[in-house]
Amino acid sequence: MSTINKQTAKRVAVIGGGWAGCAAAVTLADADWHVTLYEASQTLGGRARRVEIDGKPLDNGQHILLGAYAESLRLMRKVGIRTEDVLLRLPLQMRYPAAENGMDFFASNLPAPFHLLIGLLRTKGLDKDDKLALVRFMTAARWIGWHLNEDCTVLNILDRFNQTPRLYGLLWRPLCLAALNTPPERASAQVFLNVLRDSIGAKRSASDMLIPKRDLSALFAERAADFVKQRDGKITLGHPVRQLIQNASGWQIKGNADGDGEGDTFDALVIATPPRPAASLLDGLTDLAALQAFQYEPITTCYLQYPANTRLDNPFYALIDHPEEKKFGQFVFDRGQLDKAQAGLMAVVVSASSHTLSLDEASLSVAIAAQLAKAFNRPELARPLSTKILSEPYATLACTPKLIRPDNATGIDNLVIAGDYTACDYPATLEAAVRSGVRAARALINKDEPLPQTYCCSA
Ligand SMILES: Cc1cc2nc3c(=O)[nH]c(=O)nc-3n(C[C@H](O)[C@H](O)[C@H](O)COP(=O)(O)OP(=O)(O)OC[C@H]3O[C@@H](n4cnc5c(N)ncnc54)[C@H](O)[C@@H]3O)c2cc1C
Repeated sequence: MSTINKQTAKRVAVIGGGWAGCAAAVTLADADWHVTLYEASQTLGGRARRVEIDGKPLDNGQHILLGAYAESLRLMRKVGIRTEDVLLRLPLQMRYPAAENGMDFFASNLPAPFHLLIGLLRTKGLDKDDKLALVRFMTAARWIGWHLNEDCTVLNILDRFNQTPRLYGLLWRPLCLAALNTPPERASAQVFLNVLRDSIGAKRSASDMLIPKRDLSALFAERAADFVKQRDGKITLGHPVRQLIQNASGWQIKGNADGDGEGDTFDALVIATPPRPAASLLDGLTDLAALQAFQYEPITTCYLQYPANTRLDNPFYALIDHPEEKKFGQFVFDRGQLDKAQAGLMAVVVSASSHTLSLDEASLSVAIAAQLAKAFNRPELARPLSTKILSEPYATLACTPKLIRPDNATGIDNLVIAGDYTACDYPATLEAAVRSGVRAARALINKDEPLPQTYCCSA
């Protein structure tokens, strides 16, 4: 652990304690900058955070990471996290409960591409035409270098590669919803291909699915904060920043009331809030129109608590959703297999969930419990002891074709933005947020050097 020289160290304020802000703070602290992080809420983690419900810690929404999340995993290790202790690593899979008439695919442990080929050969629930269509898609995607000359929707590209209805329903649609939180008829094919390229198109471990065993705040953000504090940095919770003031010696920030750090002068600022608060902080300083132009997609998680001895055969399953038949759940996670303290707790995820937002909590949880009971052919799953619905209306931006995402630079000296919405190969995800935070920090640290283009896609 290093202590920095406060006389000479550059002073930076990071505004926002989500994964992007924490990634920026860690990168800056590691480069011996004196970091002060301001977070509006009382909990670090942003849209991937712990919430307390009836005295018990839950996540604001079930999350899943991929082996391809290289920057997230690197930064977790940098702050001292043993990723193998906190993430359950599973081979790529799309397994439906037996009673669903779905499919059962899971990758083998052979090196790429045999992990997928063998997985596909032994997949139950797909016939020869489905399997050939999948091989055709993968071959064509590789052949075009995972790159489209012109972006289109995921549905367009699946049509172009003659994918079968069954493959669409059981694989592509759920994969697109899970990865991009946008339905295939509106989702960007190029971003979808980017995710496929770095996961199933890369080495086997990149396609692994990583499920958090800790709550989401403990998983990274709180350890990142410890790292910053050990380097003389400061973490200020419950401090929404409302105004940025530039003067001759640098930047000052203003919150609701005189609080910690108000009146301090900073050499540089990282705005790591979601786009709309970022736009209001930048109001009068610069006009980044893209920040106001995004559309958003919600995600809903339904927690169902059963007796502690209730278990599924696998840690998670895909579910066949049919909203018109009141089947809303798309994936179910058996939290008890991740954390003993959560024995009997199931988390059911509904991505792009605008169709559920008008339903009252009781009707939605009754429908989801009934869906589980039917899917697993286990009537007792229709009778949970308790339920909780958590919906995030602005979970991620809608990942549509040719979406313009701004760069980290704002055009203002020593002022950068970071967040899952900035220019990136990836959809708005934890990895996009972390990459953005690291990139924003590097833009300040290496001010006079051009940034490597590794993480950035052209908007
Ligand atoms: C329910 C749900 C499920 C998801 N599932 C997945 C998944 O499975 N895999 C995946 O990779 N991604 C998933 N995501 C997306 C992922 O959570 C986000 O992409 C990521 O957390 C965004 O991080 P961020 O730092 O860019 O923004 P945020 O997490 O939104 O962080 C911004 C922070 O800024 C703070 N803030 C705002 N205004 C101010 C202010 N004025 N002053 C100070 N602080 C301020 C906010 O309180 C917040 O803490 C999911 C998101 C949700 C909501």
